[in-house]
Amino acid sequence: MITFNKPHLTGKETHYIYDAVKTGKLSGNGKYTKMCHDYFQNTFGFGKCLLTTSCTDALEMAAILLDIKEGDEVIMPSYTFVSTANAFVLRGAKIIFCDSRKDHPGIDEEKIEQLITSKTRVIVPVHYAGVACDMDKIMDLAAKYDLFVVEDAAQAIDSYYTGRDGIKRALGTIGHLAAFSFHETKNIISGEGGMLVVNDDRFKERSEIIWEKGTNRSAFFRGEVDKYGWVDIGSSFLPSEIIAAFLWAQLEELEEIQFRRIEIWNKYFNELQSWAEINKCHLPYIPTYGSNNAHMFYIVCKNGKQRKSLIDHLKKNNIHAVFHYLSLHKSDFYSKNCRDIILPNSDHFSNVLVRLPFFLALNNNDLENIIKNIKQTKFELI
Ligand SMILES: *Cc1c(COP(=O)(O)O)cnc(C)c1O
Repeated sequence: MITFNKPHLTGKETHYIYDAVKTGKLSGNGKYTKMCHDYFQNTFGFGKCLLTTSCTDALEMAAILLDIKEGDEVIMPSYTFVSTANAFVLRGAKIIFCDSRKDHPGIDEEKIEQLITSKTRVIVPVHYAGVACDMDKIMDLAAKYDLFVVEDAAQAIDSYYTGRDGIKRALGTIGHLAAFSFHETKNIISGEGGMLVVNDDRFKERSEIIWEKGTNRSAFFRGEVDKYGWVDIGSSFLPSEIIAAFLWAQLEELEEIQFRRIEIWNKYFNELQSWAEINKCHLPYIPTYGSNNAHMFYIVCKNGKQRKSLIDHLKKNNIHAVFHYLSLHKSDFYSKNCRDIILPNSDHFSNVLVRLPFFLALNNNDLENIIKNIKQTKFELI
């Protein structure tokens, strides 16, 4: 069976975990956490980095930092993971779902402005498949209406946006805040794990307090205050050193991991291009301002029937391909409270997008087998 995902281990994970255990410092914010923070800040130019136990947690921290309150409105795509929305719902916000682009599951930047009201506080672009949203357009709207931008960069490590000034910036450096995931299905993993990036100076001090359960413990350990105590709301968002040690092993190999992922992605793309054209499917679209971090490879089928034939045929041949998000505006939780909204592009991707197996251990034989089986799928019932 070729599974959809298989976590990649560099081989050094247990070595660094052993080191962390031997050192006797197991709780968070120790040596490995700091090494990861420094690596991210130096490699990608992120603002203040704070490892968290998940991207979900990083998004929840963002909602606390932005003081989201009952009745505030937050604009995000409907085609996303529940955590993007839940983080703000937990603070009482009303989620305003925006449609996807026609050519990509990311938020349609042209449809955001019409959703802005006097209650809007935040826009959350999700860089789907690690491909950049058009951040100049989103940051312009945020400046015009005095809003905050939280990048859901869960899938977007080592991916970039080239703005109209011609400068290439890492995703996660552009919004006021950004959230990353190191869940085992992402490019760089620690089992469960995430990170909040704080680019706006106004939030840097408070972010550390919220991270440390509402205390000024970090400032105390730096010698900036002579005692530490309860100064704000907060929670236990920081991961243990065991998780950070695992993540460190992955970061050491980030370049090699990314190199192989790009090779796999390119093989799928090159070998499926003419097949997709003949069968009226679409392969992933990468706009000129974006880059490809090879987070996932998907096919946008012509219709739901075609997708079903493809998934069924692959399954019969022991290949596990899967669909992805169901539009959140159609979810049981959301639709029971909200008037009908119609987001045709989001629904389209819910109905027809299929993701192919994608992980480092896929060798060329596996890839050729998958590609051959895709090409052999019969669509005669359509
Ligand atoms: C994976 C993912 C998340 C959640 O990440 P966790 O680390 O599992 O909490 C949130 N948003 C998007 C877009 C994701 O892909």
